[in-house]
Amino acid sequence: MYRFRHDLKDRKLPVISVPKRDVMMCLNESAMDPFQVVREQFLRRMETVHLNRYFSEVTDELKKALADYIGHGTTPECFEFGNGADEMLYYLFTSVRESQNTYAVSIAPSYGDYITYTRAVGMGTRFAQIDERFDFDENEYLKLLEHPDCRMGILCTPNNPTGNLLDDEKVHRILSSTDKLILIDEAYYEFSGRTYAPYIKKYPNLVIIRTFSKGFGTSGLRFGYMFSSPENMYEIKKVMTFFHMSIMIQAFALTILENREPFLKYNRQIIENRDRMIEMLNRFEQLHAYPSSTNFILFSAGNHAERLFEYLKENQVAIRMYGSHKMLGDKLRVTVSNEEDNRIFGELIKSYWHK
Ligand code: PMP
Repeated sequence: MYRFRHDLKDRKLPVISVPKRDVMMCLNESAMDPFQVVREQFLRRMETVHLNRYFSEVTDELKKALADYIGHGTTPECFEFGNGADEMLYYLFTSVRESQNTYAVSIAPSYGDYITYTRAVGMGTRFAQIDERFDFDENEYLKLLEHPDCRMGILCTPNNPTGNLLDDEKVHRILSSTDKLILIDEAYYEFSGRTYAPYIKKYPNLVIIRTFSKGFGTSGLRFGYMFSSPENMYEIKKVMTFFHMSIMIQAFALTILENREPFLKYNRQIIENRDRMIEMLNRFEQLHAYPSSTNFILFSAGNHAERLFEYLKENQVAIRMYGSHKMLGDKLRVTVSNEEDNRIFGELIKSYWHK
């Protein structure tokens, strides 16, 4: 007897193989530990936050602080947050899923866990493939979107792993030509500066997801949020558990928002480091680094990709290799880090060609 969901019976658990290396440039994390930045303010706040209670005013304050950070007429009712953007994806997919035949449409390659979580809630995913310019066919996307089994569209901009912003006019045309929900994943907003937040009122089908994991360096804290019209949020909340997020995480996220300048300053530095790293990589004839609006760089290394990846690994530097998607076979992704990590990475790239 199989006691669990039959549609997941043959599914293998996704393997998250996190390498343990001295220099971690594989998961688009930050090298700056947020606790070191807001330690005093956080500990002071925790004197007044009561972990023995289900409710805390921190929840309302945090929604207000998010509305203040996002601006563009958003109000606290526009927000829900959870344990990472991943959990918000899970809730959103749960809120639109109808039956086993239903699916979400995304571009590909894009963030891999759209597949993980649509499957987890019992939905499928279909894809409009992106081309060598990291652009996609709008008509193909719209055709998949308009199918009666399609429940929603996903657009990741800037896109992970390609690093580029999607064509703005295309995004607007998609938003305005359908009634179906369109999720815009702005996980890397703090590096791209482009947001669809001003259009929450204009497009009743727009939902935006963001995370503190990248721009505020809190991957381990697990804080992500979703915003849309209060009407949409009302519907999404129907599938959320009560008290789903620790008051302590909320208190930490609020403390970060109130003290955000050092984080934003660090991001400006990462952007400068990124542009220098792209230039550095492009000095090597065998490499081609693509422009990026994020804190990572995708670069092609031709038939050296695997050997270069292994060489970096042997020398304690972890970056990301993609084997599965045909467009990414010869490409590697490196997270831009602080000066020291970037220097070590750069020197290893040099020594790889001269060894
Ligand atoms: N969306 C994108 C595009 C991402 O790259 C990531 C994390 N790698 C996430 C969502 C999930 O972020 P979180 O850590 O908040 O779950």
